[in-house]
Amino acid sequence: MRGVAPVPTYVVMQPTTLCNLDCSYCYLPFRAADKRMPVEVAGAVAAAIEPWAADGRFSVVWHGGEPLAAGREHLGALLAPFGPGVEHHVQTNATLIDDAWCAFFAEHQMRVSVSVDGPAARNDQRVTRGGRPAYDRILKGVEALRRHDIPFSALCVVSDPRPGVAAELYDYFLGLGCDVLGINVEELEGVNTRANGHDAAEVTAFWAELVAAWRRDPRIHLREVEWSLRYVAAVLDGTADELLPRRLDPIPTIAHDGSVVLLSPELAGFSDPRYGDFTSGNVLSTPLGEILAGAEGTPWIAEFLRGVEACRAGCPYFGFCGGAHAANRYFETGRFDTTETDHCRNSKMRLLEGVLDHARDHEPTAV
Ligand code: SF4
Repeated sequence: MRGVAPVPTYVVMQPTTLCNLDCSYCYLPFRAADKRMPVEVAGAVAAAIEPWAADGRFSVVWHGGEPLAAGREHLGALLAPFGPGVEHHVQTNATLIDDAWCAFFAEHQMRVSVSVDGPAARNDQRVTRGGRPAYDRILKGVEALRRHDIPFSALCVVSDPRPGVAAELYDYFLGLGCDVLGINVEELEGVNTRANGHDAAEVTAFWAELVAAWRRDPRIHLREVEWSLRYVAAVLDGTADELLPRRLDPIPTIAHDGSVVLLSPELAGFSDPRYGDFTSGNVLSTPLGEILAGAEGTPWIAEFLRGVEACRAGCPYFGFCGGAHAANRYFETGRFDTTETDHCRNSKMRLLEGVLDHARDHEPTAV
C-alpha cells in the first residue's frame, strides 16, 4: 500500500454540524451550531461520483453532527441529486428516529448505523444538551427501527477496555438486534483531549474475551474481529500482502460548506499553524476528482505518507494495520510522521494480540 488512491470507495457528507446530544467524548468542534449543507454541495458531489458509482457499488455516508438534525425535508433534498448506483448510509444517535424517519429510510433504502455504548449504565457519557441521559431516547429510536423491520448496525465506544466488559457488551448487542457491530476504543481526538492509554494486558484480554463471546454465538458481524480473522487466515495462506488495498482510500469528507478533508473525517473543522485548515479544496469551486488527483500535494498528507512509510519500515503490525489513521497521530502527537499512538496500541496491536491469545487458548490439544 503506497500513496493515496485517486478514486475513493465512499464519501462522507456532513448535512449539518448540529448535534442534539452533547456526549462527553465527542470530537466535533461545532456540534452546537446548525450550519447546514446547501443542496449545491450535494449536487457537486453527486456529479463527481457518478462515474465511480456506475457499477452500483459506491457509498455515501451521511455523518454529522447528527444527520437527522438536518430534518427530513432538507436531508431528502440533499439525497435527490444522487443517482441509483449510490448506496446511502447514515450514522445516527437514533434519538430522533420515529415512524416518519423509518419511512424515509425505507424509501431511500438507507442503511442505518446507531451509536450506542451498551446497556443504560454504559451510556452515561451520551447526554442531551441539558446534560440528561439520552439512553431512553436512543432505545426508543431503536425500537422504531425494529417495529419497521429496518436492519441496523451499531457503533459502540468503549472507554474502559478490560476483561468483563466485552462479554457484557456482546450479549447486550445480541439482544438489541443489530446485525453488524463496530467497537471503537475511545480516542483522544478533536476536542476530546482525555488520555486514552490503558494497561496493555487488560486491553488484550478485552479483545480476547470479545472473540470468545462472538464465537459462542456469531449472529452479529463483528467488524474488528472478522477483519482480524481474515488477516490471520491470509497470513496462514501466504496471501497477507494482498489484503490491504494497493493505495490508501482517500475517504473524502465533505463538510457542510463543500470543503474537503481527506483521509480522516475527524480533522474537518480544525486548523493548525503549520498545516492550515487541513482542507484539500472545495467541491463548489473544484471537481472532487481534481481535488483527489492533487491529494498527495497537500502538505500534511505528504507528511502522513512519510509516517506510513516509517510504520512499514519498523512495525510488525503494519500488514494488519496499514498505518492506522492520520487524525490519531495528529491529535496525540501534533504531527503526522510519527508512528505509534495509544489508538494503534489499543485498537490494532492489542486487538490482534487478543485474537491470537484466544486462538492459542483454544488450540486443539494433540492426542
Ligand atoms: S500499529 Fe501503529 S505503529 Fe504499527 S503500523 Fe499501525 S499505526 Fe503504525
